[in-house]
Amino acid sequence: MSLLDKFQRPLQNLRLSVTDRCNLRCAYCMPEQNYTWLPRKDVLTFEEISRLVDVFIGLGVNHIRLTGGEPLLRRDIERLIRNLADKPGVEDLALTTNGVLLEKLSERVFEAGLHRLTVSLDTLRADRFKELTKRDDLHSVMAGIDAARAVGFEGLKIDTVVMRGVNEDEMIDLIEYGKRVGAEVRFIEYMDVGGATRWSMDDVVSKSKMLDLLAEHYGGVSPVKESTCAPADRYTLPDGTVFGVISSTTAPFCSSCNRSRLTADGQWYLCLYARDGIDLREVIRSDASTEEIRSLLERSWRGRENRGAEERLIENDRKAFSSGELIDDPHFEMHKRGG
Ligand code: SAM
Ligand code: SF4
Repeated sequence: MSLLDKFQRPLQNLRLSVTDRCNLRCAYCMPEQNYTWLPRKDVLTFEEISRLVDVFIGLGVNHIRLTGGEPLLRRDIERLIRNLADKPGVEDLALTTNGVLLEKLSERVFEAGLHRLTVSLDTLRADRFKELTKRDDLHSVMAGIDAARAVGFEGLKIDTVVMRGVNEDEMIDLIEYGKRVGAEVRFIEYMDVGGATRWSMDDVVSKSKMLDLLAEHYGGVSPVKESTCAPADRYTLPDGTVFGVISSTTAPFCSSCNRSRLTADGQWYLCLYARDGIDLREVIRSDASTEEIRSLLERSWRGRENRGAEERLIENDRKAFSSGELIDDPHFEMHKRGG
């Protein structure tokens, strides 16, 4: 029997941010010069993560996604992957990466038991990539995608944040690239999350606009009929190609949201937009028993009422965080909470 929150949403999906460090500076996530980094002593060890995950699994979590920051920057990440992949309760273990280190690491992480991979890629143009991420690394990402396929990753996903005037003109090229490399592309609406200090509604390309653009080019798109808690609405093109759209800004999926997030320093957030997290680092580093940890998680999830993205839509309460606010409380950052 699943553990349900106040809106009957089960605790199932845990996103583990394993580091707040990143080797890119994407314009929609880390556009600033300065950041407050988590002190290393606060970052959970793999043993601490593993113990917490066991308690989460006991309460119904069966989907785990490793993220960050850039998760492949975490030293010996394959050790954590092996540990998680071996847990019988984990039905689905995935990782979201910017792909820069994939060429070097894909074999190691695949052999450790990771078989589901999402690569974030917003453009296929080297000059644009450099402008968007402040690094000249498009060739590494593409080589990383090839390497991942070569070692055996199947069903790759490519996540693209679509921004008006920046890369909306590449949606078709990205779909075609996805076809070539056997990856399903998912277009994400630009979100006003912490970190997106330059966000403006004017820069958002809505799901309906994206579908119009693609339908016009391909001669139609049809929705895939499925009922899942996955955030992406999926569509097929006339040739059978499937793609997804994640419309967190204009049509959020809060009503079916079964995910929560654990930051690298052990703060548990019940919503991407939650103001406060629950400090599991303090608990795990105290002499709390497993039963006490379990009861804290259970109580917290039962009381969960968050529907941050819907509230922002209904109340039209949107604003970009200022860089000062994020320096003062870096936990608002997307690269801390794990996108
Ligand atoms: N570094 C890894 C990567 O980029 O894939 C994992 C962490 S990143 C925070 C996870 C996802 O969040 C990426 O796909 C990124 O595109 C997305 N993201 C970050 N900021 C966003 C924003 N303002 N709106 C929409 N998606 C965003
Ligand atoms: Fe880009 Fe991911 Fe790094 Fe954010 S965490 S700057 S989305 S690569």
